[in-house]
Amino acid sequence: MSFLSKRAQGIAPYTAGEQPQDRTYIKLNTNENPYPPSPRVEEALHTFESAALRRYPRPNADVLRAAIAKREGVAPENVFCGNGSDEVLALTFPAFFDAEGRGACFADLTYSFYEVFAAFFCVPTHIFPLKADFTFDLEGMKGVDCAGYYIANPNAPTGVGIAREEVERFVAALPDKLVILDEAYMDFFGESCVPLTKRYQNVLVVKTFSKSYSLAGIRCGYAVGDAALIDALFRMKDCFNSYPVDMVAEAVCAAAIADEEYYAACTQQVKSERERLRAELQGMGFTVPKSSANFLFAGRAKVCGGEIYRALKAAGVLVRHWQKPLLEDFVRITIGTPQQNDVLLEQLKKILS
Ligand SMILES: *Cc1c(COP(=O)(O)O)cnc(C)c1O
Repeated sequence: MSFLSKRAQGIAPYTAGEQPQDRTYIKLNTNENPYPPSPRVEEALHTFESAALRRYPRPNADVLRAAIAKREGVAPENVFCGNGSDEVLALTFPAFFDAEGRGACFADLTYSFYEVFAAFFCVPTHIFPLKADFTFDLEGMKGVDCAGYYIANPNAPTGVGIAREEVERFVAALPDKLVILDEAYMDFFGESCVPLTKRYQNVLVVKTFSKSYSLAGIRCGYAVGDAALIDALFRMKDCFNSYPVDMVAEAVCAAAIADEEYYAACTQQVKSERERLRAELQGMGFTVPKSSANFLFAGRAKVCGGEIYRALKAAGVLVRHWQKPLLEDFVRITIGTPQQNDVLLEQLKKILS
C-alpha cells in the first residue's frame, strides 16, 4: 500500500551539489561566493530586534522591493521577491504555462531545475541543443513552437554569456512569446537585460542574492518585469506561501543591495581570478569555454571529468561533476579566493602528471 501520489512516485527531483560535513574542503562545487557578504549585512543582523519575529513579515517584502527597484532603476510594481530565485523560477511555470499549452523551450545544457519544474507543474518542454562551442543558437530557437523560453544568461554550467543586444533582437522578434532570463550570474558579466523589461512586455528577468551578494544561506531572489507579469507571480505566491521572504532575509538583502561599492570590488576580484584560472587551465590542456560567470567549465581529452573530480576530492578540493551525456567529460569549477585557486592548480598539476 503506497500513500504516494503518482507524481510523488514518478518525479525525478533536482540534485544539488554536495555540501559535505565530514571534513573541510576547498569548496569550489556550488558557485558560492568566496567572500563574505557586505559589512552592512553584519550590521543589519546586529541591529535586528528579535521581538519583531513575533509577527508575520510583510507579505510582499515591500521594503526590499523598494530597495531592489531603486538599484535596478525600475518601479516597485515591477519587482517580485521570493524564497531564493529557485522559488521565483518555480512560480513562473504555473503563472505563464499551461499543461495543455505550447510549452516551454530551453537548451539541452542548462540549469537542470527547469526540467524538474516543468515536470512538477506538468508543462510540456522543447529541448533545443546548444551549438558545438556551447553558445546558444538563438536563431534556431526562434522557430520552436512554444509559449516561452528559459534562458540562463550567463548559462550554467557552461558560463557562456549572451550580449544584451543579441537578447534584444531575440525578444523583439517574438512579441507573442515570453522570454524568462535567469540572470543568477549576471553581475559577473554586466549585460543585464533589466533595461529591456521597460520596453518589452515579454521579458522577465530573474536574479538572486545567492551568488554575487554572497547570501546563498539567506534564500532570496527576485524577478523584474512588466507589472502584469509581476502581478501573476504574486497571485501564484498567494496560492502557495504568503510569506516566502522572512523578516531577517528582507532586512539583510535590503542592506546588501545598497552596498554597491563593496560588491563591485568582490565581483572584480572574482572576474580577474576567473581569467587567470582559465589561462592556467588552458595551458594545462583543458578546453575551457569563455566564462561570463563565477565558474569555469573545463574538460580535457583522455581524462574523464569523473576522474578529475575524484582525485581533487581526495586532495581536499571539491568541484562539480555530472555523470550525464554532454557533461561527463567536464568539471565545473567555482572561482575561489586567489589562495584557493592556487591550491586547485597545484593539485591539478599533480593529478595530471
Ligand atoms: C544558483 C542558481 C539559481 C538559484 O539560486 P537561488 O536563488 O539560490 O535559489 C538559479 N539559476 C541558476 C542558473 C543558478 O545557478
